[in-house]
Amino acid sequence: MTSLTFYGGVNEIGGNKILLQDKDTKVFLDFGKSFSRRAQFFEEYLNPRTSNGIVDFLTMGLVPDIKGVYRDDLMIMAGRKPEEPDIDGVLLTHAHADHADYISFLHENIPIHMGSACHLILKALSERASRTMEKEILDYKPRPYNIKDAPIKRKINEFRSRDKFKIGSLEIEPIHVDHSVPGAYGFIIWTSEGPIAYTGDIRLHGTHAEMTRDFIERAKEVKPIALISEGTRITDKVKQESEKQVYQESSKIVSETNNLVFADFNFKDVDRLMTFFNIAKETGRKFVVKMNDAFFLKHLSQDKHLNVPNIDDENIIIYLPKRGSGKYSDKDYKGKDKKFLDLHNTWTAEQIAQQPDKVLCAIGFYSFTALIDMKLKSGARYIHSSSEPYNEEQELSKERLNSWINHFKMHKFQSHCSGHARGQDLLKAVIDIDPKILFPIHTEHPEAYKKVSKNMVLVKEKRTYSL
Ligand SMILES: [Zn+2]
Ligand SMILES: [Zn+2]
Repeated sequence: MTSLTFYGGVNEIGGNKILLQDKDTKVFLDFGKSFSRRAQFFEEYLNPRTSNGIVDFLTMGLVPDIKGVYRDDLMIMAGRKPEEPDIDGVLLTHAHADHADYISFLHENIPIHMGSACHLILKALSERASRTMEKEILDYKPRPYNIKDAPIKRKINEFRSRDKFKIGSLEIEPIHVDHSVPGAYGFIIWTSEGPIAYTGDIRLHGTHAEMTRDFIERAKEVKPIALISEGTRITDKVKQESEKQVYQESSKIVSETNNLVFADFNFKDVDRLMTFFNIAKETGRKFVVKMNDAFFLKHLSQDKHLNVPNIDDENIIIYLPKRGSGKYSDKDYKGKDKKFLDLHNTWTAEQIAQQPDKVLCAIGFYSFTALIDMKLKSGARYIHSSSEPYNEEQELSKERLNSWINHFKMHKFQSHCSGHARGQDLLKAVIDIDPKILFPIHTEHPEAYKKVSKNMVLVKEKRTYSL
């Protein structure tokens, strides 16, 4: 008996929670947060209550109500009995919230398997922000919360590409894929009925397209009985895009000016980070990062494959925001931030503004109050290097961003390539792999795969499919 049950990622982009059952073995493929479902009920000033444990999440369907999955403290808070974990592990494809975040609620005895770079990203994420109930992936504090309680660590097993491992009756082969975050993997899983393949999130136009091709090649070779494929951009219009193109466009934008340049991108996207870091170096500019992004440098620089500079690199400047007294007094900085003060490379907004042609500011929109302290003169450049807004909230944020751009008479540029494969690349991957059954997920348009698959399932949430 082998089956798949989908508790998330169905007709939505992300929120993947796929239960694979084989004989007595049960594993989840990802256990992510569904942004769209959360946004159906909650917004900035209306959030699931920490004081109610997991109850708000269960009641509003943000996590499935299934047995033997969740933490004892959350079960007790919900007025239920703690349950022995009935899941043998989670196979995490990558560190994005829509795949990883709701691991936070899982019982600590359920082992989480992830790539080593994925582990580093999660460490950086937990160090850069304060603890919240929806982001306690590596460890958690039992609720109700007591500040003195030591965090309870989860069992984390790291893997590397192609290193097979076993969980019960399953054998798992993780294979690296290219995506907008390092440490992303697809899985080939041998079940008692035959091999199945799961893409995770993939692309074929990024810096390391060959990694995704390795996965597709291997999936094709094993002749899978089932393929679970992402389809984020399955219906998008064809367009020319690559990380190299972002590099070329942005390099031109930076080298044409002696004024300040701001680059705004997601720091977890290490390819993009390195694109702008290298542009800074080549144009004789220092790369200015904000304090909480510095945690990414600190952790990711430990992985020699990634070539990420550490926080003490001669090309790195850490932006010191005003706190407390507003006078950059030592007393204003506490906790983790205090450590940055002792580094030689911490600069205030005023110091940055004094050398406009010697810096590339990767501090992002959320640090735009720095522009006030910089007394920014007209003509500075702003490169927006992430996706265009795709919901109302982001539209509003874009309007706000444009107001800042106009107020300070900056020039705005857009340069980006997506973390997800283009429609035609996804269709070709399915044709190449030629699975017995296709399960399209992580997409609002699963039906678009009909063109290439005679035997595909339009997945229904919570329904169990026997293989
Ligand atoms: Zn995703
Ligand atoms: Zn992703």
